[in-house]
Amino acid sequence: MTGTAAPPARQDQDIPQAVTDLRAAFDSGLTRPAAWRRRQLHALRRLLVEHASDVEEALYDDLRKGRTESHVTEIGGVLAEVEHALRHLDRWMRPRRVAVPLNLKPATARIHPEPLGVCLVIAPWNYPLALTLNPLVGVLAAGNAAVVKPSELAPATSRLLAELLPRRLEAVAVVEGAVEETTLLLAQRFDHVFYTGNGTVGRIVAAAAARNLTPVTLELGGKSPVFVDETADMAVTARRLAWGKFTNAGQTCVAPDYVLVTRAARDPLLAALPRAVQEMFGTDPRTSADYGRIVNDRHFRRLTGLTAEGELVIGGVSDAADRYIAPTVLTDVPTGAPVMTEEIFGPILPVLTVGGVDEAVDFVNARDKPLSLYAFTRDKAARQALLERTSSGGLVFDAAMIHLGAPNLPFGGVGESGTGAYHGRSSFDTFSHRKSVLSKPTRPDTLRLIYAPHSSRSFSFIARAVSRTHPLLGRRR
Ligand code: NAD
Repeated sequence: MTGTAAPPARQDQDIPQAVTDLRAAFDSGLTRPAAWRRRQLHALRRLLVEHASDVEEALYDDLRKGRTESHVTEIGGVLAEVEHALRHLDRWMRPRRVAVPLNLKPATARIHPEPLGVCLVIAPWNYPLALTLNPLVGVLAAGNAAVVKPSELAPATSRLLAELLPRRLEAVAVVEGAVEETTLLLAQRFDHVFYTGNGTVGRIVAAAAARNLTPVTLELGGKSPVFVDETADMAVTARRLAWGKFTNAGQTCVAPDYVLVTRAARDPLLAALPRAVQEMFGTDPRTSADYGRIVNDRHFRRLTGLTAEGELVIGGVSDAADRYIAPTVLTDVPTGAPVMTEEIFGPILPVLTVGGVDEAVDFVNARDKPLSLYAFTRDKAARQALLERTSSGGLVFDAAMIHLGAPNLPFGGVGESGTGAYHGRSSFDTFSHRKSVLSKPTRPDTLRLIYAPHSSRSFSFIARAVSRTHPLLGRRR
């Protein structure tokens, strides 16, 4: 179960045993106390601090992530999640008293959060540390045991997590592997399955979980559009877009996928974007320590194929041996081109021209609901139109991606971009059951009136009591 060294894949029969062991640990009550939860969160924080350089190395091996980027988007994000959970755990765990209606009084009612049991976290490769550990923070804060399945496409990070987590955390098992291992995992009964990745596998996960009526959170992807109009501060817009799009070489679920720019803003934006890219990654991004690589050859081939249509503004350069694709901006792309019909998930940014915000709203609404929608505009009416007439997991004005750093905002998709949400309190709620607890004194027995046999006196009393909410019963016969 702990697997401190090679080989990565577990023996098949270990998986059911691992889940059985974790269930026994959960059933023993080990994970419930606040002290246990705090201990796990402290241990996770210590692990990240003490092994920061191992993490940096693994992320570099998997995705050529730079040191600063690793701290900003991976290690730092998890540490912030841990801090936030530690700070608010007592409040989150506290049962919340709620009012009872007059006809049930005297009575007290409260919502009592309780852990779900054994949770499964299935993570993707693009932020292989953060997208494994951020959900785990919620799992532990809510007092659950967990099986964690990192992505096989980020093998160095997966191996590191398999080595470290079971050594430092109680009631956490790591299963390494790919489809075969995940399929076997999904055949087990869990109390919650938390999956981050693409929608095709999301459907497989949901179907497998449904067999045990296990609730799922699906953190999926899709195309996150950007609207830019002429009221935007173009230099800042270009910098924020370039950062959002080219961080991790565009392999980010909330990366701006394509831009819908108004006619008046088109040329200023197309002039500002190359400047922003050059400011960040120099004239040859290949030599920048801050510019990543594509995760594998399959994605490299997929991405280079996406530049076949449209006019190049910048980029278009690639090197298969290094899996390097330069930051690329395209215009005049047909809306039916693959780059506009599938999630790009790489450093290619198509810029399409629209007549105004109404056309942008229609464009967005004609497609799947995005994980994130970004708008760079100071026009209040345009902001309101996007807010009220589109649906997306998140909506961000004048920035990209940074909403993930606000722990009080639930992070998740809607429709094709996912179901459920996490971060901060939302994570705690996702991995907790909100148990309804009602307590009623036995004396006086105020429920006597609703017991049979019913007399005309009890009918008229009940009728009077409920006449406001049930006018038919209150009517005189
Ligand atoms: P991936 O290939 O690493 O797959 C994700 C997980 O699913 C892995 O652990 C993998 O082993 C498992 N898996 C793959 N095939 C499976 C199968 N047939 N049965 C069971 N399990 C299987 O990652 P990916 O899906 O390529 O990730 C990229 C996608 O994830 C993009 O669409 C992106 O937008 C989305 N994403 C979403 C978020 C979010 O927070 N909403 C974050 C990151 C990525």
